[in-house]
Amino acid sequence: MVSKVVFGRGSFNQLEEVLSPKRLNVKAPFIYIVDDVFQGNSWLTSRIPLSYDDKIYYVSANEEPRTSQVDKMVEDIIVKFKALPSGIIGIGGGTVLDLAKAISIMLTNKGESKDYQGWDLVKKPAVYHVGIPTISGTGAEVSRTTVLTGPDKKLGINSDYTPFDQVVLDPELTKDVPVDQWFYTGMDCYIHCIESLNGTFLNAFSQSYGEKAYELCVELFLDNNLSEEEAQDKLMMASWHGGMSIAYSQVGVAHAMSYGLSYLLGTKHGIGNCIVFDHLEEFYPEGVKLFKQMKEKHGIELPKGICSKLTDKEFDIMIDVALSLVPLWENALGKHWEKTITRGKLKELYLKM
Ligand code: NAD
Ligand code: ZN
Repeated sequence: MVSKVVFGRGSFNQLEEVLSPKRLNVKAPFIYIVDDVFQGNSWLTSRIPLSYDDKIYYVSANEEPRTSQVDKMVEDIIVKFKALPSGIIGIGGGTVLDLAKAISIMLTNKGESKDYQGWDLVKKPAVYHVGIPTISGTGAEVSRTTVLTGPDKKLGINSDYTPFDQVVLDPELTKDVPVDQWFYTGMDCYIHCIESLNGTFLNAFSQSYGEKAYELCVELFLDNNLSEEEAQDKLMMASWHGGMSIAYSQVGVAHAMSYGLSYLLGTKHGIGNCIVFDHLEEFYPEGVKLFKQMKEKHGIELPKGICSKLTDKEFDIMIDVALSLVPLWENALGKHWEKTITRGKLKELYLKM
């Protein structure tokens, strides 16, 4: 679990106070990994407390993080600073938060990041790392994974060293998120709740967080009574609780299939989950019904026919990625999931999307 959190509108201003006791020495910089959507946005960047050799790396969130990208950035940091940094601070959405987590792990662990995709393969504690979300929903700020696309799979580095040491939750930072992106990333949270609450791995820990996040999502996406500020505050907490819920259970069908889309077509996580979830009535009837209402209420049009022109070979790649996520299927459908989920069944579902 994340050991330290501050929450509140404007809490971003406490960053210097939070970080200064963690500075190892003047030669060990704080390295900020910042979504390039904020480049030139002085409202946010002028408040980043830079001193000594501290450095900002602006990164694009147009594509999800890759293992090769992580390895390159780690090498760059080692070559440039010749010493371990005092800390890595990620400021952005799930893409940037995952990059920051992975970089902090790979600075202290040998080899390439692809070697650590899986469960509990990381052996050494990461460099001190801080997460500051600027869009809410993925739960990446609280989870023990960092999802990376590698040469042969899309899979997280799941470990006890992955979670942030400190998170700053300032809902004001999410104020300029465009509506469609707000919906896709918000729905990631909603889908985490549905998959966790309807999964066979559910237990009282996951359920208590999942139910709270679900309740917040229904209020946020179907009620009209919230001010913009209240909605930003509540979605940030829904994301946190949704992430906590899957920490002790798992996600399910939508995530397994969406990973396939993302690996083959580069479809991003939030929208990919929405495209898949829209066709999963048979697995999550109530959840999908409410999802369709939410989609309609916010005027969201999802892309259609994205798999219609794929070759058999491409379907095979996508299906292999989806099927490799065994814990997700087992959570969704139980130990005998392979009886229901055949390659033919997955192709039939993908063809609807
Ligand atoms: P994102 O980080 O990919 O960002 C989506 C878009 O929103 C980008 O264009 C970004 O520039 C923009 N954006 C972000 N903050 C903004 C702001 N305040 N104002 C305006 N624009 C802003 O989105 P996401 O949905 O948060 O993250 C998706 C990623 O998270 C995927 O890579 C996925 O694999 C990962 N993920 C990780 C976990 C985890 O537990 N580690 C869980 C779910 C998803
Ligand atoms: Zn997700």
